Amino acid sequence: MRSSGTSSSTPAEPGEPDEFERLVGRAQACTACAANLPHPPRPVLRVSPTARLLIVGQAPGRRVHETGIPWNDPSGDLLRAWLGMTREQFYDASRIAIVPTGLCYPGTAKGSDLPPRPECAPLWHPPLRAAMPGIRLTLLIGAYAQAYYLGKRRGRTLADTVHAWRDFLPDHFPLPHPSPRNRLWLKRHSWFEQEVLPALRERVGAVLAGGDNPGATD
Ligand code: SF4
Repeated sequence: MRSSGTSSSTPAEPGEPDEFERLVGRAQACTACAANLPHPPRPVLRVSPTARLLIVGQAPGRRVHETGIPWNDPSGDLLRAWLGMTREQFYDASRIAIVPTGLCYPGTAKGSDLPPRPECAPLWHPPLRAAMPGIRLTLLIGAYAQAYYLGKRRGRTLADTVHAWRDFLPDHFPLPHPSPRNRLWLKRHSWFEQEVLPALRERVGAVLAGGDNPGATD
């Protein structure tokens, strides 16, 4: 899913998809790892050439796979609470892009969602990210997003990485996954709610308001 807008370097004929739309169409039609998925591929993403904030999570869960709406589950409710956003604000694709590390639901094993397919992020994140030059901040939610974007810069544990959030600014902001399964983690790491969330809200608010994000590379 994408919002309307044009940023293509190749002007499209009236009625023809522009370069950005063609890229999104290719992502939405991807079948690169279909043989390893439990269902036919259904990539779930929301992008726009005008987006300023990028949210990178893990991969769609079953409910998101069924509805096609990212973060349309209890994890999304908590993420919106962390960000202090309404659903309307959160789903404004002209300002907020949502691209998980793996675009399709990878299935479950022993009651837990499987990891994002490893083929997916290298295939789709570089071109999608390049097509959104207005992104000023990327939220890296959970270990898979942090592994892909931060690589060896990550801490030894997810808590170490999140605790060192200042080290990854201005481009990236690492966060734990807001899954109900992580309630214990959140309880054990009370500094996250007390210290990190206010800073997160402040920086996200500034970026969405069109303010600067000092030092951003794009
Ligand atoms: S998970 Fe990614 S690579 Fe696999 S089919 Fe979906 S979009 Fe393509």
